[in-house]
This record gives sequence, C-alpha cells and structure tokens, in this order.
Amino acid sequence: MSFSLVPDKLYRRYTDITPQMMQAWGIRLLLCDLDYTLAPRSVARPDDTVLDWVNAMKAAGTEVMILSNNRSSERVELFCKDMGITYVGHAGKPAKRGYREAMAKAGVTARETAMLGDKLLTDVLGARRSGVLALMVEPLGGPVGAWNHVLHALQAPFKAMTKENYL
Ligand SMILES: [Mg+2]
Repeated sequence: MSFSLVPDKLYRRYTDITPQMMQAWGIRLLLCDLDYTLAPRSVARPDDTVLDWVNAMKAAGTEVMILSNNRSSERVELFCKDMGITYVGHAGKPAKRGYREAMAKAGVTARETAMLGDKLLTDVLGARRSGVLALMVEPLGGPVGAWNHVLHALQAPFKAMTKENYL
C-alpha cells in the first residue's frame, strides 16, 4: 500500500474542522474540494452552515479556496461567489500544478497549506505529492451511485491506516 494514499487526518464532515485547528497547525490556506466535501453534488448553492464555516475561517485569518476538478466552472463559480472566496478550477488533482497555483495566489508555502477532500485518488494523493496537510472527510450526503459505493469501499483500508481519525 502506498503511504501517499493515507490522509494525515480523517473526519466525519467539514464542520469538524475548526479555525482553532488551523491556527494550532499554522495553516493560512485551506484548500477545499467542493463536491461531496462542502456540499452534495445535488446542491446548487451553499447553505448557511457552509457560509458560516467559511466566514469563521476567514475571520480567524485562514483563507479558504476551492480546488476543483469540476469540468464545468459554472457550479464552482456560483458557489464561490456566494461564499466570497476564490477558486482554482480544472485543477487536475492529483497533479501538483493546481495546488501550486493556489499557493502562489495566496502567497503561502506548502507547510502553511491544507487540503480538505473526500477522495483519496485526487484530493489526498495530490495533497501528499504537494507536501500539504491532507485532511479527509466522509462524502457529504453519502456516496451516490454504484461507482462511488465501490470507490468508497476501496478507500476504507487507507482510511483505517490514518493515525488521527474519528473511526
Ligand atoms: Mg469530492
């Protein structure tokens, strides 16, 4: 098993991650995947919970940015507009270029950056390759469709290897 596929920390959902944690770990940029991380795919606009969460991060001095592989930027753009944050689209996770672009935009180093996502082969692998803190959450709203059920079952052994997790 590749250790690049083991996240640093595993949580139930994004709201378990707090501005206090970011401060304690020296994280100034929190990169977030959008689909199944901050919202189920079926939800078109951010709800109050995610708006409050993003605002609390910003108020505490941690910039939040979306790093998305989404083919259409329209969905990402709408979400980010409502949340008052910026994004890197067509990021090509797990490639490093999207992570690099986001860090350059924010003017931070890899040590000051964390990636939050629900998928090992994109979000977590890219984070490990880029040297940023890899935070993983369970898919918001649960896995949707046969493929996602298989994918999430395949992720289980790697999640179990995560030292800090809620399981
Ligand atoms: Mg996702």
